[in-house]
Amino acid sequence: MQNFAELARAARSAVVDARGLATALTRNLRGEVRFDDGSRALYATDGSNYRQVPIGVVIPHDSDDVVATVALAREYGAPVLCRGGGTSLAGQCCNVAVLLDFSKYMNNIIEIDPVRRIARVQPGVVLDNLRNAAEKHHLTFGPDPATHDRCTLGGMIGNNSCGAHSVMAGKTDDNIEALQILTYDGLRMQVGHTNDAEFENIIAAGSRRGGIYAGLRKLRETYSDLIQQRYPNIPRRVSGYNLNYLLPENGINIARALVGSEGTCVTVLEATCRLVESPPERVLLLIAYADIFQCADRVPEVMSHHPIGLEGIDDLLVEFSRRKGINTEGLALLPPGGGWLFAEFGASTAAEAESQARQLMHSLSQSPSPPNLRLFTDKLQMKRAWDVRESALGATSHVPGEPPGWEGWEDSAVTPEKLGGYLRDLFKMMNRYGYRSALYGHFGHACVHMRINFDLQSKPGIAKYRKFVEEAADLVVSYGGSLSGEHGDGQSRAELLPKMFGPELIQAFREFKALWDPDWKMNPGKVVEPYKLDENLRLGADYKPWEPQTHFKFPEDHGSIAHAALRCVGVGKCRQDAGGVMCPSFRATREEEHSTRGRAHLLWEMTKGDVIRDGWRDQHVKDSLDLCLACKGCKSDCPVGVDVATYKSEFLSHYYKGRWRPRSAYAFGNIDLWARLASHLPGLVNLTTQLPWLRDISKLAAGIPSERSIPAFAPQTFRQWFRRRQPRNPEAAPVLLWPDTFNNYFLPDTAKAAVEVLESAGYRVVLPKAKLCCGRPLYDWGMLDRAKRLLLETLDTLHNEIAQGIPMVVLEPSCATVFRDEMLNLFPKDERARRLSQQTFLLSEFLEKKAKNFSPPQLARKALVHGHCHHKSVMRMTDEEALLRKMGIDFQTPAPGCCGMAGAFGFEKQKYDVSVAIGELELLPAVRKASYETLIIADGFSCREQIAQCTNRRALHLAQVIRMAAQERKPYPERHQFEKQQAELRKSMKRAGAGLIAITAGLSLLWALRRRT
Ligand SMILES: Cc1cc2nc3c(=O)[nH]c(=O)nc-3n(C[C@H](O)[C@H](O)[C@H](O)COP(=O)(O)OP(=O)(O)OC[C@H]3O[C@@H](n4cnc5c(N)ncnc54)[C@H](O)[C@@H]3O)c2cc1C
Ligand code: SF4
Repeated sequence: MQNFAELARAARSAVVDARGLATALTRNLRGEVRFDDGSRALYATDGSNYRQVPIGVVIPHDSDDVVATVALAREYGAPVLCRGGGTSLAGQCCNVAVLLDFSKYMNNIIEIDPVRRIARVQPGVVLDNLRNAAEKHHLTFGPDPATHDRCTLGGMIGNNSCGAHSVMAGKTDDNIEALQILTYDGLRMQVGHTNDAEFENIIAAGSRRGGIYAGLRKLRETYSDLIQQRYPNIPRRVSGYNLNYLLPENGINIARALVGSEGTCVTVLEATCRLVESPPERVLLLIAYADIFQCADRVPEVMSHHPIGLEGIDDLLVEFSRRKGINTEGLALLPPGGGWLFAEFGASTAAEAESQARQLMHSLSQSPSPPNLRLFTDKLQMKRAWDVRESALGATSHVPGEPPGWEGWEDSAVTPEKLGGYLRDLFKMMNRYGYRSALYGHFGHACVHMRINFDLQSKPGIAKYRKFVEEAADLVVSYGGSLSGEHGDGQSRAELLPKMFGPELIQAFREFKALWDPDWKMNPGKVVEPYKLDENLRLGADYKPWEPQTHFKFPEDHGSIAHAALRCVGVGKCRQDAGGVMCPSFRATREEEHSTRGRAHLLWEMTKGDVIRDGWRDQHVKDSLDLCLACKGCKSDCPVGVDVATYKSEFLSHYYKGRWRPRSAYAFGNIDLWARLASHLPGLVNLTTQLPWLRDISKLAAGIPSERSIPAFAPQTFRQWFRRRQPRNPEAAPVLLWPDTFNNYFLPDTAKAAVEVLESAGYRVVLPKAKLCCGRPLYDWGMLDRAKRLLLETLDTLHNEIAQGIPMVVLEPSCATVFRDEMLNLFPKDERARRLSQQTFLLSEFLEKKAKNFSPPQLARKALVHGHCHHKSVMRMTDEEALLRKMGIDFQTPAPGCCGMAGAFGFEKQKYDVSVAIGELELLPAVRKASYETLIIADGFSCREQIAQCTNRRALHLAQVIRMAAQERKPYPERHQFEKQQAELRKSMKRAGAGLIAITAGLSLLWALRRRT
């Protein structure tokens, strides 16, 4: 025993020649080797409360890279840590080790065999990718953590993950047939089901492999009685090593024995997974009781009807979700009650699935206190209801007005028969400690999740946390349960394992690990011979972050950028592989540093200041923020509202203090100034930006990639047009139309259309008295001093309109968000800012919410609608879609993500490739696929540019579509519109060209005459 403890201690405190190791790795690997401080800081934490800075990071290309890495790590005495999505919650995915990130390259499905119902995968395969591929054969991989769209098979094997459908298909261990593994000392082999004869043969063959099997046989002989006695007989025992799979009655499966070993024994190079039938038709029954305890009491009865999933949530989770404004549609589907069960039934036909659910409904309604029930058969409604459950972890983090909740006792499990009793006792205990948490979980298997408001920032708080979890461990053990039901032990529960298994089995765990990893270098300090549960805390009693002065006031984060960056609890939703709004740059690069989580973690590390030491001048942080499109996708899509766009703006404002910014910053950041200048001679300026040669020089000067076209200035600005026109509805109620830089100087037809639409709705359109700019482009380069000045100028100029409550319609969504978002963060105490933000509407919002006399004109057309990211994240598309529906337009919204242009992002030379790659994820292929009769609708100027520059289609603003519906009777009028604009442009350029020639000729003549005289 002494020996193991010493080995463990030595591995945990190994001194490694990191530089030498990095050099050797770089020389020998095809993949990437990153030992710089930024990469180390980036991977210093996972989804848990813990933080340990790795020695370095390796992104292997293939198994050979992994073998080479482990061999070199051994040569240099460095511990090794494997990582998939890094969504672990118990601290098992951070360590002082060489960290192998499998998610970027080793993510291939090698084979799916629908006949044998197996799949062979590399460890970095994201679960949903496997499920989607298997679904083509009506098969699935059963266990489905809530992180199914970003967790990897390697990570699931590491943690023995489960999920809502483990009720149907078991835990990960039940679904692994074989593993190809690599030990720290370089043995690569296949493990799986091994009968007695095979076992003996392997032992007889000797060598390192035979030695391991001999050790396993000895373990079985020594501990089989204890394993039978002390392993809880419950559906969700995930704690400890799977020594039960060494016993003949469990089929002796060495692969399954290694599942759940959390990277502490071996590295998994490849997995053979069992696939199960996926019921094609499903229905969802929502069952509401007065409280969550009554829900828990009914679990055995509900389970006797064989649902394929049974989940529970309590009223506090619902309240927190409401307070955060998330999943509102899903919440509206819940039947009245104070606790809910989600029972899913599946079958080969919808009628069969529904009939099963109805039998349960009948049975429940016969009980003395029948629940409220709602049965859903519609796929969209079911998805919305499931979203409420799946976003539980995020929904319970950083709830406004609540102290933060943390992992620590987030994953206990008992037997379903005892769930009600266990929960009541656990809540009594929490009350005694003054703790509070929402409650949810996989109730069918009595696995309970929560995020308790532990104080992990003070000595007494941490001591109280320790006392609580120790007592909670005693409680769950007294119920015959498990410390972990699916998340694993990592560091937060490993120290408590003796309470559950007793000292002899803990010794068996040590021996099991030592068989595979005699050097004790695989993920040391986790599961066995562990770090203390209150060591390596990300916060801890000495947590004193740097609190610099900032432009943004971060009112929801106590005025602190450190607190804002701490929001990221590592759920990793920004790493989802497909669909969703965030994070476009991660989807294009598959790099952690270009994910919302990576950026938030690096900023947090910057405020922590021990690895990232250069504060605002840190190049690692700058590089990670560089590819952020400032789309604000994360602000709405991230369950804890991480707002990287704002953090980026703040960071850049300091990073560039006293330094020159790139050329494009001055070209695009001050576009309002250039556009104002150009509006005096638009034809001439267009000659320099549109004509061959000249346009190349312009692009070079502005730092624009040669593949891009520079948008042309309109011959007449919107303001000029408006001034020359007779005002309409002079007596009507006024509405202020914001002539933003893009629709004023480049695409005035949008604003002209809006005027006509607003007038037809019975309003008198007025413009701001002075030329104003919201400053949107300035935020992208952190030019916040000027941005603030512009906002103050706007507030001063619009003083009367604000005071009179005159609504302001903004056509460009990114400008509207300045007033609805940034302005409030910069001036949270300015009453005028608050009022203007409430008076600011997009056109669709105004027509839907305010314009009572507006009757939407009809247009029987198909359309493809692309919402600007800021529209989707800050304002939401609800009004736009409602209006289009009322107009009779048959539309689709195929691209939930970004167009890739994102303001000036796509116009920057270094970002062109990423910009196009993001566009090609969804939007651009959808536009190309749309029939020529289908309207393309996009309100954002940059979205319209991306479409125009990357496809042969032109998109229209909603204002133009409404005007078209009201006025045009010709078929497909949008086609003529673009030609008309182009003709006007050409005319103005010709005029300018002719003028230029005339002036040059005149000047030459004058010069010649003067020379003669
Ligand atoms: C919001 C949220 C919801 C969650 N919901 C669930 C849930 O419903 N059910 C559930 O079971 N879990 C859940 N989890 C926990 C976690 O998502 C799962 O355990 C998931 O399967 C981990 O996958 P990953 O790829 O992120 O693994 P990682 O965190 O990267 O790794 C997990 C473990 O596996 C090891 N590992 C990774 N790759 C290898 C390899 N190639 N060889 C050897 N070891 C390896 C790591 O060292 C680590 O110990 C949730 C987490 C979050 C944040
Ligand atoms: S703003 Fe968009 S690109 Fe930037 S981190 Fe958030 S989701 Fe990703």
